[in-house]
Amino acid sequence: MKKPGFLIIIAGPSGVGKGTVRKEIMKNKKLNLVFSVSLTTRAIRKGEKNGVDYYFVSEKKFKEAIKNGDLLEYNNYVGHYYGTSKSQVEKVRKAGKNIVLEIDVNGTKNVMKAFSKKDIVSFFIVAPSVKELEKRIRGRSTESQADIKNRLKKAKDEMKLKDKFDHVIVNDSPTRASKEITKIIKNAIALRG
Ligand code: ADP
Ligand code: 5GP
Repeated sequence: MKKPGFLIIIAGPSGVGKGTVRKEIMKNKKLNLVFSVSLTTRAIRKGEKNGVDYYFVSEKKFKEAIKNGDLLEYNNYVGHYYGTSKSQVEKVRKAGKNIVLEIDVNGTKNVMKAFSKKDIVSFFIVAPSVKELEKRIRGRSTESQADIKNRLKKAKDEMKLKDKFDHVIVNDSPTRASKEITKIIKNAIALRG
């Protein structure tokens, strides 16, 4: 039987570049990574695909998923629900592959409670400065002004929890940051044997 894969957590403030860095890391097929496609009730953004970036569902469907015990963890983030599919995580790990969870700090806390420390490799991504973070989130132009303000406010609370993570990574450049993360994941895989 294969050893179950790692839970690789990538968290950090909205707009810091989690998605960008994650897509870069996932190009390396040797890492055996599978992205955990979460369920969300937020609106789909331009360029996103249902079933690839998220499963975009109604609030009714999301609440049904909670009731049926389908979610490993979930949270309400600035007015929208987000949750991790339990069956996807179980299936991927059972196949010996590593599942990448791009989730918020609250979700991370719940995953850390539910799994052993040795099964998790967690990363908190930060921007080189608060000013740069604001520039990135505004530059993405995907949210309303009110939503951007809420996300920046939320970022300050999230930053306070960065020390709960195994690694804090500065996303100064997506290439450099993903190289740093890739090295850490490779080491974790090698150590586990
Ligand atoms: P998140 O997934 O954390 O919300 P995104 O990956 O969507 O963030 O990135 C937010 C914006 O910042 C995007 O427009 C992206 O192209 C840009 N970005 C990501 N990393 C960097 C970087 N290192 N330097 C400059 N811009 C970046
Ligand atoms: P966004 O709307 O920018 O895609 O995501 C907003 C926040 O929700 C980000 O911090 C993202 O990592 C987080 N998120 C995405 N999916 C999940 C999930 O399944 N669970 C939790 N707890 N947070 C999630």
